[in-house]
Amino acid sequence: MNNYNLIRTIQIECPLCGKIHEVEERKRIATTIIKDEKVTYEEIYYFCPDSDEEENEFTTGKIENINLLNARNTYRKSKGLLTSDQIVAIRNMYDLSQVDLARLLGWGEATISRYESKAIQDEAYDTMLRIIKENPKAVLELLQKNANKFSAPKLISIKQKIMENLSSSGMEFLSRQSLESEYVRFQKQCDANGNTLLNIDKLEAVISYYAKRVNNLFKVKLMKMLWYADSLSFKNYQRTITGLVYCHDSMGALPIGHYKIVGLQNVNMQEEDGFEITKYHFLVNENIDENILSTEEQNVLDAVINKFNSFKSQEIVEYMHEEIAYKKTNDKEIIPFSLARQIKDF
Ligand SMILES: [Zn+2]
Repeated sequence: MNNYNLIRTIQIECPLCGKIHEVEERKRIATTIIKDEKVTYEEIYYFCPDSDEEENEFTTGKIENINLLNARNTYRKSKGLLTSDQIVAIRNMYDLSQVDLARLLGWGEATISRYESKAIQDEAYDTMLRIIKENPKAVLELLQKNANKFSAPKLISIKQKIMENLSSSGMEFLSRQSLESEYVRFQKQCDANGNTLLNIDKLEAVISYYAKRVNNLFKVKLMKMLWYADSLSFKNYQRTITGLVYCHDSMGALPIGHYKIVGLQNVNMQEEDGFEITKYHFLVNENIDENILSTEEQNVLDAVINKFNSFKSQEIVEYMHEEIAYKKTNDKEIIPFSLARQIKDF
């Protein structure tokens, strides 16, 4: 691969020439194998313009670590696992050191440190970390169970943090649980959810991603654009992005639990008075990290935005009415994603 981007030129000690001189810091798309899977990621390296073609590239230990972390985080995103930054953020929520968090969870003391630097967590560990993030009450229970592992002042300071997080995230937790309860019957990958379990983090990120780029995004259009994102992702990659399940509705595809989606704490929605009805206007949530969406997923969203940005609600409804997935299903029936394979061209 010869494609690269120049990041900057920099004076450093070049191990190829054995002296300090100006080299190029570059980045390019590279592939590596992680857990038997091919991962495409951004790799940084140095280029020495003074060396011959045989050997004119090098890296440093620091750059190697950045590249590795980058590759692993790309893998994590593709598997819906927390990235190392997200694990650090969870720790910071409760002011915990790496060892503190490992003790709280009853894990080996080096476990968190490994997850933040090198190793990729198993799904069971990932689930536990998400519980810590989303449910301060569970943290309190864990703290009581493992109280003997902490000093008295540390116990008090962690409890303080739990209380702070309870007030701000208690509502968020409840709004998520309320949506999750609608999806308890879809806890396996199937045709209804497009081989993807409900992922509220990604759902919120998709809504914010759209709201940032689409003018006047209201509920009817958003619901269709969610279906198109999931359908296009399914068509291209055999899995959806959000894990939502959609039903055939008079206005097109409508996700199960749509009222609860609108009510999610991290969805920035404004109610506006419309003609006879209340309109739900969606706006960007600057606190959401768009990068939890993989590059593939962002490409899908960009394609959907390109297609429908200028469509009015009624136009996208009419467009959807012509889809085979819509025509082949009856009112209130679940629209299987196998039918979404045949969506009209983008
Ligand atoms: Zn050199």
